[in-house]
Amino acid sequence: MEKLSVDVAVIGAGTAGLNARREVEKRGGRAVLIESAAYGTTCARVGCMPSKLLIAAAEAAHLLEAAPQFGVHPGRDRRIDGPAVMQRVRRERDRFVGFAVADTEKIDPAQRLRGHARFVGPTRLVVDDRVQVDARAVVVAAGSTPFVPPPFDAIRERLLTSDDIFELPDLPESLAVIGTGIIALELGQAMHRLGVRTAFFSPFDELGPLTDPEIRKIVRRDLGGELDLRTGVAMQQATAGGAGVTLRWRTTEAEVREESFAHVLVAAGRRPNLAGLGLESTGLALAENGMPAFDARTTQCGDAPIFLAGDVSGHLPLLHEASDEGRIAGANAMRWPNVERHERRVPLAIAFTDPQMAIVGVRFADLAAGGHAVGAASFDNQGRARVMGRNRGLVRVYGEAGSCRLIGAELFGPGMEHIAHLLAWAVQQRMTVQAALAMPFYHPVLEEGLRTALRDLARALGALGSCRPEDFAKAPGD
Ligand SMILES: Cc1cc2nc3c(=O)[nH]c(=O)nc-3n(C[C@H](O)[C@H](O)[C@H](O)COP(=O)(O)OP(=O)(O)OC[C@H]3O[C@@H](n4cnc5c(N)ncnc54)[C@H](O)[C@@H]3O)c2cc1C
Repeated sequence: MEKLSVDVAVIGAGTAGLNARREVEKRGGRAVLIESAAYGTTCARVGCMPSKLLIAAAEAAHLLEAAPQFGVHPGRDRRIDGPAVMQRVRRERDRFVGFAVADTEKIDPAQRLRGHARFVGPTRLVVDDRVQVDARAVVVAAGSTPFVPPPFDAIRERLLTSDDIFELPDLPESLAVIGTGIIALELGQAMHRLGVRTAFFSPFDELGPLTDPEIRKIVRRDLGGELDLRTGVAMQQATAGGAGVTLRWRTTEAEVREESFAHVLVAAGRRPNLAGLGLESTGLALAENGMPAFDARTTQCGDAPIFLAGDVSGHLPLLHEASDEGRIAGANAMRWPNVERHERRVPLAIAFTDPQMAIVGVRFADLAAGGHAVGAASFDNQGRARVMGRNRGLVRVYGEAGSCRLIGAELFGPGMEHIAHLLAWAVQQRMTVQAALAMPFYHPVLEEGLRTALRDLARALGALGSCRPEDFAKAPGD
């Protein structure tokens, strides 16, 4: 077997792995980057980018649908060209993938290995039983894979996941979406708006990631009004046959129903790619789910020279977190055993549904009992949102009693990808609600809805004995 000795072995050439490798190089170390599949990263190939491209097509269709409310009537021969929609998704996706592949291929070929890596010792790896790699430290950046629950695992080859849906040559006639999480809602709502008969199935009641019960009511009202949501159901059977898949499920009223769909998209969550990594050969203590202990501020597993980065850590499966964890892991792999603790950014997650959902900082579910206040603003009549005919939603911001600092928010409404950023920056800057209200607000903009929520929060904090409401002059245009 060929033998190789390096400072740091990096498993996975995704976003986290590429960033980890770069850190090793910056610090003068010798790294080897090991990848078992095609280069190009999950985000560009089957994740963030193709999903947002499909959503962009759905937005275009939805704008035409919504146009008559403004007195604008699109032409009679309005139609959605399914093959053209899917071709653009792939064409633009391939452009993004091309950049990621080119970046990866710029790396010295002597520092890249193709094949599946597995541990055969604490820091010894074997790649495809062909090359043995000995490293001072290992960064595991192996990503995650769609989870296919029973009874769907029995007909795996007839199902779609986010790994293959973008390869469809045309929009399907009908689609059953299994799951109501972010990926399920993003892709399913896009398909629905592109004219695909789409139904969602979930054993749970949750729609998306939000935990604030007040907003969840609005999400249910709003998305329930648009989408065919069959939540709280027990899926009993999935049978592939003919041109599609027949599903049988039990409803909340204990009735058994059956319906056929051209395709089934399973979007029931993702699992870290730990199987087949041979972590049991490392000596790390593993929990029942196979996960080693992981410190998000160092990315280290216990005190071993093994670091997890990106989706495989099971921490926050998001692109910017994968980049950060890659950088921290690469730096600490070089520093081991003197690893550094890094400050992590304020949590920020966005679902590109319409209306968009977002979570910033501390989620409602994680607020300490007492010690905080909540400010709210409905977007049902928010000025700018109404102008655009997109007046739906609710924003709730959370502040800490005593300090009056903004600590988090949950958001559902138009343009929330931007409002969420403003709030995340304010929370990370440890801004008080007064300081945030002292910032400029233009008129008429969606941010005025945020200001309404901040004023409400100031009043609520004032009622707790902090942040006197009279400190805030009423601004025009509210
Ligand atoms: C449909 C969808 C939409 C998304 N949208 C967003 C979004 O809008 N915003 C956002 O922030 N995030 C989004 N994400 C999540 C984001 O894509 C991921 O968090 C991110 O790509 C994870 O990067 P990573 O480096 O951890 O993993 P990856 O990019 O998956 O890289 C892991 C690599 O490791 C390789 N590998 C695994 N095991 C081995 C092994 N044993 N040996 C060798 N190689 C191995 C894999 O082949 C893979 O190439 C989305 C994900 C999906 C699926």
